[in-house]
Amino acid sequence: MSTANAPVLEHTFASELEGLYTAHEPPGFKAPSLLLLNRELATELGLDPEWLQEHGAAALSGSELLPGTRPLAQVYAGHQFGHFNPQLGDGRAVLLGEVVDPQGRRFDIQLKGAGTTPYSRNGDGRAALDSALREYIVSEAMHALGIPTTRSLAVVTTGERVVRERVAPGGVLTRVAASHIRVGTLEFFASRKQKSELRRLVDYTLRRHYPDEADAPNQAKALLNAVGTSQAELVAQWMLIGFVHGVMNTDNVTLSGETIDYGPCAFMEQYNPRTVFSQIDHRGRYAFGNQPGIGAWNLARMAEALLNLLAVDEDQAVAMAQESLKHFGETVEGRWLDGMRKKLGLVGVDGGDQPLVQDLLDWMTRTETDYTSAFRRLSRSLVNGGVAFEGEEFAAWNERWHSRLGDADPQQTAAAMDRVNPIYIVRNHKIEAALDAAIEGDMGPTNELMEVLSRPFEEQPGRESYAEPAPPDFGPYSTHCNT
Ligand code: AMP
Ligand code: MG
Repeated sequence: MSTANAPVLEHTFASELEGLYTAHEPPGFKAPSLLLLNRELATELGLDPEWLQEHGAAALSGSELLPGTRPLAQVYAGHQFGHFNPQLGDGRAVLLGEVVDPQGRRFDIQLKGAGTTPYSRNGDGRAALDSALREYIVSEAMHALGIPTTRSLAVVTTGERVVRERVAPGGVLTRVAASHIRVGTLEFFASRKQKSELRRLVDYTLRRHYPDEADAPNQAKALLNAVGTSQAELVAQWMLIGFVHGVMNTDNVTLSGETIDYGPCAFMEQYNPRTVFSQIDHRGRYAFGNQPGIGAWNLARMAEALLNLLAVDEDQAVAMAQESLKHFGETVEGRWLDGMRKKLGLVGVDGGDQPLVQDLLDWMTRTETDYTSAFRRLSRSLVNGGVAFEGEEFAAWNERWHSRLGDADPQQTAAAMDRVNPIYIVRNHKIEAALDAAIEGDMGPTNELMEVLSRPFEEQPGRESYAEPAPPDFGPYSTHCNT
């Protein structure tokens, strides 16, 4: 492997948190092949796309190690569907190291699906190609929608087959993340009463993600509040865009505030807060409408993990945790209502905004209206001077909306709405069709889908079908973790 122009990795996690992970070299594959390379992301990161194109098969499958690599598997714990699991970790992922982009931002380079690690338990350490592609497609779509997320640099096929719901080619995803430190990482050291390790982790995380807070007199409190704010903003954005994460376990909650782990996630089509896609979420714990509450629950687990560091006096520590949770709730609510105002073209703040929004959503639930396209219909109705939907109930709401809009210029209002309301989201039937084709060797539908999703707010003539909900014969959609 020629190393001229190869990415040279740094490794602050490996060097500063010695003892908090397991050094681990990925086993590599005999016949890896580069299937997808995100050249745009490579360039943003200051990496040479040509080098990656040439050497990515080996370098991004763990078959040959990049210069500077200190590969490792991270350990974490986590609350899964409400139950604490004291021992999780990178069971099918290996952290190669970090790159610093031209703006000075540091990112982890992680290979997901690169083989077994000391934390694989009974798993095979592999990922199926369709699950790697799914994460690639959805994470890049989220990025294009402006939502904080881990990103996807490449997918390599491994040359092996993996047995899941179906037998599929194996794939390795190169995940790029602000970091992979999770609420569950804190929980791991807290549950083992490793206070000094916990302290080191808090210090490292603050310096890496919230450098302005690094010298705070109470670092644990500063981290709790900072993560509370960034997670609240993240969940609010999911609620605005109609995204169902599907598996909000504490090991899938980043301290950076990025969306992570695109397993059973999906976008809601017909608006309904009870929407659940994940096959294993029998009770709807992670239903669309529950996400703000679960976000708060997860933050409470983080606060518990940090309790001993927050204050010596337990009552005082609990008070700090409660304060942070209150702030979380208010931030989600405030950010969401703000976002909803923008989606409806409302300028300024009015006491009636909350019920105006809620009544629209209730109407959507009753009429099973497609959430995403509804906002585009509303803006079009302003331009055309018509009414977006039929029926008396809607007409009554429409009148209230118009009276709130007042004498704002309809064209300008519509344009402002269109800047925040996407035309294209990941439609379930489209991604399923693309993945089915991809595992049969046809990347055409995947490439076209990604092309559409890279410009979600722009009308793309000839691609109207990508804006439409699934046809009735697609049936109820369900997703699986595909681990
Ligand atoms: P996830 O559902 O992706 O959040 O993963 C939950 C846990 O299961 C993590 O500790 C993963 O590392 C582990 N895991 C998932 N899939 C596999 C696999 N194929 N082999 C080994 N461990 C896995
Ligand atoms: Mg996970």
